[in-house]
Amino acid sequence: MQVTNTTCTVCRRNCFISVEHDDHEVYAVYGNSCHRGKEAAIEEALAKEKKFLGEIKIIGEKELLPVRTEGLIPKEKFAEAEAFCKNFRIPKPIRIGDILVENFLNTGVHLISLKTVS
Ligand code: SF4
Repeated sequence: MQVTNTTCTVCRRNCFISVEHDDHEVYAVYGNSCHRGKEAAIEEALAKEKKFLGEIKIIGEKELLPVRTEGLIPKEKFAEAEAFCKNFRIPKPIRIGDILVENFLNTGVHLISLKTVS
């Protein structure tokens, strides 16, 4: 069994929801304030693929650059993606939407910048 924690974005209340589940079945849901949020959290927990969001270091800067994959990647790749981002450095200038890594982790999707840093 695993636990997926998520912040519900269905409405502005942004409830923090935990889902206990395995690959195909949900055992318990905690933290939701309504049924819509529960359904969204279950859908998120059981999804096999998701857009990866992370941060990478900019050479010569203290601030981190927010990044994400252009498309969905398998959730099982997320640990590898986190490790990659932790060790990756990028020089300035960077524009929002720039492709930072093509075919990120052989997933077929690119890793892109979510911010401009000049
Ligand atoms: S669980 Fe319901 S009340 Fe909470 S953020 Fe989601 S939609 Fe809004």
